[in-house]
Amino acid sequence: MNKRCVCGKVITSQYDLCNSCLAEYGRDSRLWPEWLIFAVADAKRTYYQNKIISEHEITFSDLEAD
Ligand SMILES: [Zn+2]
Repeated sequence: MNKRCVCGKVITSQYDLCNSCLAEYGRDSRLWPEWLIFAVADAKRTYYQNKIISEHEITFSDLEAD
């Protein structure tokens, strides 16, 4: 699963923003507007929740196989 930027683009770097948002807001989150900090935190939470869910789905199908 890909990490997504607050603008909806897939992030290919190790940063929390896509290249065009990095160019606009910069890499230093201390300099971001408050809404952006919240939006990135929210996107991260969704990303990790989906990751946990997909890992659990693997566990559940393994259990069904038994
Ligand atoms: Zn973006």
